[in-house]
Amino acid sequence: MVHLIDALHLGMSDIICIALVECGPNELLIVDSGPESVFESVVAGVRKLGFRPEHVRHLLASHIHLDHTGGAWRWAEKFGTEVYVHPKGAPHLIDPSRLVESATRIYGDQLNYLWGTIGPIPEDQVIAVDNGAELRFGSCQIRVLYTPGHAQHHNAYWLDSEQTVFCGDVAGVVIRGGPPIPPFAPPDIHLESWKESLAKIRTLKPSSLHVTHFGRVDNPARSLDALEKRLFSWADWMKQRLLEGKSESEITPEFQKLVDSELLSDGASQADLSTYEYADPAFMSVAGLIRYWRKYHPEQVPPVRR
Ligand SMILES: [Zn+2]
Repeated sequence: MVHLIDALHLGMSDIICIALVECGPNELLIVDSGPESVFESVVAGVRKLGFRPEHVRHLLASHIHLDHTGGAWRWAEKFGTEVYVHPKGAPHLIDPSRLVESATRIYGDQLNYLWGTIGPIPEDQVIAVDNGAELRFGSCQIRVLYTPGHAQHHNAYWLDSEQTVFCGDVAGVVIRGGPPIPPFAPPDIHLESWKESLAKIRTLKPSSLHVTHFGRVDNPARSLDALEKRLFSWADWMKQRLLEGKSESEITPEFQKLVDSELLSDGASQADLSTYEYADPAFMSVAGLIRYWRKYHPEQVPPVRR
């Protein structure tokens, strides 16, 4: 049985969702923890469902971006929770100094307000798991799916009993059952491997998906197809802007308009737009996509303009 906890990030609903799975009477797992700033609110969410947070024995990390697992160290410290993560992410959970460095560069003095504090997890509580690994917790049989594209250290997790995949960010951002959009956060965006990751998920013919932003997706095939289409159409759009010689700051408001108009025409409401923007800020996607073109296809775009 999968339960959903709204982490109430910055007091807002429908931004960050934590899935909680019952594997046995005293054995629970959560998928991602949310940032450290929502730790207490997720703990309260576990209690509200009638469970005890000290029974959360396992934490499956989709990837180590702060909105997903910035708070994992608190679970490890307070409840002895073991954290499963891709081998490329594991060293940064054990020693988060580089994570702190890059987050400080992006968020500056907003870091603490947005994500809380960052701390290390003892090495013996971090378990590196790669593609194909099978995990058995009580009645839960889980298969690890390495799913890069959004981040090079991204895992998704197949839960056999529910025929569902916990997708982190690789299946996009889907607010209130609306259209899926790709979070193009820097620095790892790679469209070619993202496409392969989506194919890997499709092969399993899941009956549902779970995404961190936000919750359960009941039409996996349609949602994955729509996301894939958008991955490439937005990347092409970005390439055109670069070819026009536009700068990042010129592109950002135009990109925001593109996102809003596509969301509205695909059925999102005006109120949904700001939730999408909180979960997946336009400036991040612009930075991530520009980096993708310059890093992987420099011959197709003009050089950096200062
Ligand atoms: Zn992410």
